[in-house]
Amino acid sequence: MNNHFDLIAIGGGSGGLAVAEKAAQFSRRAAIVDAGKLGGTCVNAGCVPKKVMWYAATLAHAVADAPGFGVRARPEGIDWTRLISERDRYVSRINDYWEGYAAELGMTRLTGHARFVDTHTIAIGDEHYSADHIVIATGSAPIVPRMPGAELGITSDGFFALPRQPRRIAIVGGGYIGVELAGVLRALGSEVTLVALEDRMLFAFDEQTSQVLAENMAHQGIDTHLGFEVEGLAETPNGKALLRRGGEPLDGFDTVIWAVGRRPNTDQLGLEVPGVETLADGSIAVDAYQNTNVPGICAVGDVIGREPLTPVAIAAGRRLAERLFNDKPDAKLDYENVPTVVFSHPPAGKVGLTEQEARERFGDAVTIYHTEFTPMRYSLSEHPARTAMKLVCVGSDERVVGIHMIGDGVDEMLQGFAVVVKMGGTKADLDATVALHPTSAEELVTLKVPDPPLGAD
Ligand SMILES: Cc1cc2nc3c(=O)[nH]c(=O)nc-3n(C[C@H](O)[C@H](O)[C@H](O)COP(=O)(O)OP(=O)(O)OC[C@H]3O[C@@H](n4cnc5c(N)ncnc54)[C@H](O)[C@@H]3O)c2cc1C
Repeated sequence: MNNHFDLIAIGGGSGGLAVAEKAAQFSRRAAIVDAGKLGGTCVNAGCVPKKVMWYAATLAHAVADAPGFGVRARPEGIDWTRLISERDRYVSRINDYWEGYAAELGMTRLTGHARFVDTHTIAIGDEHYSADHIVIATGSAPIVPRMPGAELGITSDGFFALPRQPRRIAIVGGGYIGVELAGVLRALGSEVTLVALEDRMLFAFDEQTSQVLAENMAHQGIDTHLGFEVEGLAETPNGKALLRRGGEPLDGFDTVIWAVGRRPNTDQLGLEVPGVETLADGSIAVDAYQNTNVPGICAVGDVIGREPLTPVAIAAGRRLAERLFNDKPDAKLDYENVPTVVFSHPPAGKVGLTEQEARERFGDAVTIYHTEFTPMRYSLSEHPARTAMKLVCVGSDERVVGIHMIGDGVDEMLQGFAVVVKMGGTKADLDATVALHPTSAEELVTLKVPDPPLGAD
């Protein structure tokens, strides 16, 4: 085999597949390297298996609510083995799709762990492969903190490998992964405790979202401890324990999940050989065009530590291929106003600036509209989940710079509303749009009275 390519993507996840796919579509010789199955984190241990489990959890909620609407249904527990095996079968089908599609496009699939041996060459085992352009798309991995007993916990990767449903579980971390796993497990019947260092969950989201999320989680029976600093794990006669700095431990858990963040996969790549610059957290430094400091080496996706989301990795990879191989020298991803959704119960989402960020940037020019309500879906239910929505507007024309929502259906709603923010739409544009009734989404185009300015009372 000729071992020289136009492009080698290191990492067969969202970013690597996107850039290699496009390169192949532009008739370039493209190779993709991964030691594991194609699809990366999203397909194998992220978005896809997570969303399957979220659907199961959502159905469990619906069954619990059904009698209120006169629908005879009784929650009879979860067949975990079936759920997991069906989920894994679905994931395998996606892996197979990618293997077949990559071959169909004429991409070369290389299996193994890649490391640099010079600027244009990587080694996989003893074999060397070179390319005009090498794209690092090695993603990230869950962090296990260094502290006594840390090995007693598992990570999100371990969660997806659990053969049996945990009975009593502790989740350490109030970011989106911790919140999502907590919601799924609770809906499926586990007793769930979530602890977080911060004083609110989803710290990067608008405060209103965190607050309503906390209410919903408490209502579902998730035991939440904020401002809780874990200093170690221990095995006790009652089960696993979370040791708390300056406080009483929490014990009695059969499973503990670390959901304390992710670190970029850069330490095994031999980046020092070509001299690729990394930042303090190990992520790869790139410019707006995904170029590293070394000509011929680019990076996309989680490994650059910016907006770690699948669609971001894909969009950056595609634009990079357009720039390199399709005569579009200006192609680059705009990282502003990227929408994001958390698959909590109910889901939460945001696009643009939080109220706090907007006030820091624009001061008194900020106008806030918000609402909070129990949607009609819960009118006959004993388990109501609250919905909240917020518009963050700026200037006399009330340009919408942020939209924040939590509630049933917001995961699907946000995509369309994100277009408004991206286009620089105004509150008047929303007002001019006729509502869809009866929905929750209509609230966003019928918000009437702005919050009083700060300090007005
Ligand atoms: C639990 C969880 C839930 C998530 N949910 C969502 C969601 O709902 N929506 C969303 O948008 N995002 C979600 N994400 C994030 C999303 O999965 C990532 O943003 C996305 O996968 C990043 O793509 P990537 O190509 O950068 O890296 P990855 O998909 O991680 O792919 C990197 C690949 O590189 C390979 N690799 C690493 N080092 C080497 C090497 N040296 N040689 C060869 N191969 C190597 C790895 O095996 C891996 O397959 C979730 C993540 C997790 C963990």
